[in-house]
Amino acid sequence: MFIDGRELPDNHIVEADICIIGAGAVGISMALEFNNTNTSVALIESGGLEFDAKTQSLYQGGHIGDPTYPLETNRLRYFGGTTNHWAGHCRPFDEFDFSVRDWVPYSGWPVTAEEMQPYFARSQPVMQLGEYDYDSVENYARELGLKPLPLQGERLINVLKHQSPPTRFGKQYKDEIEKSNNITVYLHSNTLELKSNESADHVTQAVVACIDGPEYRVKARYFVLAAGGLENPRLMLLSNSTAPEGLGNDNNLVGRFYTDHLLIRPAMDVSLSHFKYDFRLYTRIHNINGGKIFAIMTASAGLTKKEKMTRFRFHLYPHAPRYDAAVGGVFSKLDNSPHVTPLSMERGTSIQVHMAMEPIPNPDALVRLSDDLDIFGQRKLEVKWLVSEQELANAHRAIQIGALEFGQMGLGRASAPILEKPDQWPAEFTSGKHHCGTTRMASNPKQGVIDKNAKVFGIDNLFVTGSSIFPTIGHTNPTLNLIAFSLKLSDHLKQKLA
Ligand SMILES: Cc1cc2nc3c(=O)[nH]c(=O)nc-3n(C[C@H](O)[C@H](O)[C@H](O)COP(=O)(O)OP(=O)(O)OC[C@H]3O[C@@H](n4cnc5c(N)ncnc54)[C@H](O)[C@@H]3O)c2cc1C
Repeated sequence: MFIDGRELPDNHIVEADICIIGAGAVGISMALEFNNTNTSVALIESGGLEFDAKTQSLYQGGHIGDPTYPLETNRLRYFGGTTNHWAGHCRPFDEFDFSVRDWVPYSGWPVTAEEMQPYFARSQPVMQLGEYDYDSVENYARELGLKPLPLQGERLINVLKHQSPPTRFGKQYKDEIEKSNNITVYLHSNTLELKSNESADHVTQAVVACIDGPEYRVKARYFVLAAGGLENPRLMLLSNSTAPEGLGNDNNLVGRFYTDHLLIRPAMDVSLSHFKYDFRLYTRIHNINGGKIFAIMTASAGLTKKEKMTRFRFHLYPHAPRYDAAVGGVFSKLDNSPHVTPLSMERGTSIQVHMAMEPIPNPDALVRLSDDLDIFGQRKLEVKWLVSEQELANAHRAIQIGALEFGQMGLGRASAPILEKPDQWPAEFTSGKHHCGTTRMASNPKQGVIDKNAKVFGIDNLFVTGSSIFPTIGHTNPTLNLIAFSLKLSDHLKQKLA
């Protein structure tokens, strides 16, 4: 059911077994895991059912240095969260992503790909995706009557992504939640702080306030932060009544290791001189096995090890006059917007290659509280997004590798003007809008904020979910992965409540 927090009396107390803060992709999918059980869930959501500028302004924040991106428009603050405008590209992390790579500092997860497999598969229907299969590029291509590009396999390999409709979590799951007897969503309800006992090892309540409305409290046995990759650490830092540096921040790690994919759009233009290849497997979305897929390219494990690089992916787009380089055009096409016509590969067109590069974890890249205050008098965030020389070198090398591969296939001539102006690179990057790493998962409290069960080190009933928990982020998009971790957390909490 839904309750408008503004209609509650001042100082009201809500009681529940689990309090989940934030009703975006992970908050909603986690709450639904408890639907029709004896567990009462209070899902606390800052926004209402629709966009509202005043609530959205709570996402304002600043940057320390370059590069920058608009914090306020990178995420959405109402029921359904940022999935109200996400693009829906999905792919799970693979074994390599979870491993310790001795050339990538701070790499390695306390969980394995094998442990996560069942949760990746369970996440698939949550995002309205088809059969869980990310490996069978050749089989899918054959069924579609298409051919993958003949990559040598020593450098680049073809892999699949699945395309969500994209699921707008707020719209898709509203009715199910409305009918639920044990899940209550509190709308227009902003969590300001978590209060703990005196030793700061047990959360006792969440302090919640409505814009121009009452302030109330939520008491629960377990608290889960699901407010997104930037607000999760902000809430922990703001919760400083008993722990002056913020809850769970004894080792000064909350907010550190901020990472985001580096997007280069375009990384390359390949002017087609031969038309012997068909690009439709890459440039179009295909219906198959109850879902939609397309192919991308990534580096082989062998090349990544040999070159000691982080991971990257190439996404091919047809570069024709109809596509004016505005990414928005691509997003609206994925949304099946009627004003975008399908593109054809005609003579004179070129392929545009977009690249996403995995960043290297860095404790000096961080989010922290600034001295600017929001409308509740709470300190806003400021983000220090650092792009290191090594990351620039990795991106440079990845583009060279792509150009080499495309050249050897005889596709045409690859031009990458960005390689000629390396000193201007930071300005050429855009953020992947994937805010990761700020409450990273680790095997001990000296290396991270949460343990392998997503519990905050040193606090017995506080859990975190979402992209802030990822210690490294591979080349892939985060959402399928963060849903998988929230389903795993749900199973863990079910066991604790049993
Ligand atoms: C333009 C764009 C395109 C994207 N495309 C893709 C893609 O193709 N594939 C992919 O995997 N990912 C994509 N993403 C990222 C994706 O949207 C996020 O990974 C996903 O939404 C994160 O889910 P979440 O639940 O952790 O956070 P969110 O969806 O951001 O939800 C957080 C929720 O918490 C609420 N909240 C915040 N603070 C508080 C508070 N103090 N009190 C109460 N509630 C609070 C917010 O209102 C919001 O509803 C894209 C993002 C953008 C911006």
